[in-house]
Amino acid sequence: MTFPHHIKIVEVSPRDGLQNEAQTLPTQVKIDFINLLSDTGLPVIETTSFVSPKWIPQLADGGEVYQSIQKKPNVNYPVLVPNLKGLEAAIAVGVKEIAVFTTPSEQFSQKNANCSVTESLHRIAEVVDRAKKQRIRIRAYLSCVLGCPYEGKVMPEKVGELGEILLRMGCYEIVLGDTIGVGTPPKIKRLLEIVCRHVPLKYLAVHFHDTYGLALVNIYSALEFGIGIIDSSVAGLGGCPYAKGASGNIATEDVVHLLNGMGIDTGVDLKKLIAAGRFISKHLGRTPQSKVNLALGEAIS
Ligand SMILES: [Zn+2]
Repeated sequence: MTFPHHIKIVEVSPRDGLQNEAQTLPTQVKIDFINLLSDTGLPVIETTSFVSPKWIPQLADGGEVYQSIQKKPNVNYPVLVPNLKGLEAAIAVGVKEIAVFTTPSEQFSQKNANCSVTESLHRIAEVVDRAKKQRIRIRAYLSCVLGCPYEGKVMPEKVGELGEILLRMGCYEIVLGDTIGVGTPPKIKRLLEIVCRHVPLKYLAVHFHDTYGLALVNIYSALEFGIGIIDSSVAGLGGCPYAKGASGNIATEDVVHLLNGMGIDTGVDLKKLIAAGRFISKHLGRTPQSKVNLALGEAIS
């Protein structure tokens, strides 16, 4: 078994994390938080979203946050964009990278985005066309790739086909999201085997949720398969909207600790990461949902 020497970590806490936190934070706290993350060595920080504030009041200040953060030249700051209106708002503040989203689950698409999967692809195609004209890079999320809260089973073949469509449209990375955390190592392996027939491995990222405590094990399985890009969220920010009280995103501290232990380079300073996790947890009034942060944090801060 040979693992990659380097893994790219995509930090999703300022968007995917905060959007699932009930407590709305002041804009300046978000800006300070992202600046702390920028200083850890993380190569990608999903900064905010340009969805309607009616849907996600927490991120209504996305434009101001994006404009106010200190952007490092070697860090990408993608923002989530649901439609052309969101893209125009992103373009207006000079965004250079966006993330779009769809899902292989028809029912999840209806409940989450109010449209069919086919309609969501039309919407994405419009966004991608416009974004490409502005030389904006596009990352594409596929939600519920290992199971859906409404439909149950999701066919890996469908995930692969959607990934291929998005790649052909011009998305540079396809993110496999286990939105409800139902993945297990055999399911991960089977999914990746099938998706790889449609999308070359180097374009695939994994985005695992820790609902049942298996996210790290699932990440290890994905690493064994050769995956080189991992999404995670510092302090495990972001709960699970489908199971109250359950964990959401896997904590970045825990992922970096695992990779450090395997001798895999991430370029991320774990101490600075822990400090950023403690900063945001303090403002949310809770302890970090990261075993590594809890074990090492006191000694550091
Ligand atoms: Zn997530």
